Amino acid sequence: MHRRGEEVEVLIVGGGGAGLVAALAAAEGGAQVVVLEKAKDVTFSNTARSGGMVMAAGTRFQKAAGIHETPEDLAKDIFARNHHQSDPEVTMALCRVAPVLVEWLVDRWGIQLEFVRDFKYPGHSQFRMHAPPSRTGRELIIQLWEAVKAHPRILFVPNTAVERLLTGSSGEVCGVVAVTQGPEEIPAKRVILACDGFGGNRELVRRYIPEMADAYYFGGVGNTGEAILWGLELGADLAFMDAYQAHATVAYPHGTLVTWAVIVHGGIIVNRAGQRFANEDIGYSSFARHVLEQEERLAYVILDGRILELTQGFSELRESVEAGAIRGPFETLEALAESLHIDATGLTETVVQYNRAMRGEGIDPLGRKEGG
Ligand SMILES: Cc1cc2nc3c(=O)[nH]c(=O)nc-3n(C[C@H](O)[C@H](O)[C@H](O)COP(=O)(O)OP(=O)(O)OC[C@H]3O[C@@H](n4cnc5c(N)ncnc54)[C@H](O)[C@@H]3O)c2cc1C
Repeated sequence: MHRRGEEVEVLIVGGGGAGLVAALAAAEGGAQVVVLEKAKDVTFSNTARSGGMVMAAGTRFQKAAGIHETPEDLAKDIFARNHHQSDPEVTMALCRVAPVLVEWLVDRWGIQLEFVRDFKYPGHSQFRMHAPPSRTGRELIIQLWEAVKAHPRILFVPNTAVERLLTGSSGEVCGVVAVTQGPEEIPAKRVILACDGFGGNRELVRRYIPEMADAYYFGGVGNTGEAILWGLELGADLAFMDAYQAHATVAYPHGTLVTWAVIVHGGIIVNRAGQRFANEDIGYSSFARHVLEQEERLAYVILDGRILELTQGFSELRESVEAGAIRGPFETLEALAESLHIDATGLTETVVQYNRAMRGEGIDPLGRKEGG
């Protein structure tokens, strides 16, 4: 086990999914590992807030469900979605390692992951998600954490924020300065930065993604972008700084997520006038900026009993029901509109037109095709 002042073999900054998986992999390879996490445990990370769904094409779980595809098929969907902007080598490497990772987590570390057969992410041509039974990232991260804590070669240190990197005479990274009671230099042979993005840092969001600067932040509080600032100090280049993941269906003020599965199964999103304002097929992240353009930055998810039934497997949805974020059932669209204080005539017209288009009796004016 690592002693104070001693050089660490592999030092990992950040105890989210990436950091803990890196720790397990490095320890399996024989290294002594230290993970420094600024929060008091792992449940403040984005991984803990997520749906815990791990994307992988070509796992044995996918094959057992009768779906035969390759990492190249997944890469094809990714390139179609990002218009070939992502680095082809990195994208392919991630797609190839994904099925290996999923099977390794299950077989080597006993992480419970089940194949998801009822929810395709926007842009996915196949079912290819693997999630813990509760479909929560909290369950996933706690399982990873248990594996990390039980490992004799990994030391997990909570309540310890890394403040800056240490560099040697030729600029190489050779450790970190971390803050517990006071700043402490920790030398390390290798440093892995697994601190995620900068969504929790308003100032950086305003600098790089001004259109999202005033949006309600729904991610982990620890993601404040220090690693980006350290990289800048070392002369690194930045790219894709305006890329972000948003969620268009966060219930406000409840703070729960109305799972996008509701939309995938045919739900629609309207504004106060009862009108749809963008094509839901674009997915929850791209859709979010259209919500921000609506009056009071609010929109309303409209679903029926069939959709509610189909999405019961998502704990996010059950939480939203428990929090009172989902109202109903209502006998009529007028009653629904009245409860939401939105325009009843607009809503009725919207629903009638949408249902007609989805039955194939017309074209959806917003171009939606995947209507559940
Ligand atoms: C609501 C929601 C749902 C999502 N659902 C999915 C999903 O189902 N599937 C999917 O693939 N993705 C999903 N995502 C995205 C996914 O959660 C993230 O991409 C992923 O969890 C990132 O993992 P990470 O380990 O890089 O970062 P995180 O899990 O955020 O961990 C980073 C950790 O680093 C720590 N840290 C940061 N700076 C420092 C520092 N200076 N010193 C010490 N520690 C530091 C933070 O406190 C944090 O614990 C979702 C995201 C959200 C918000």
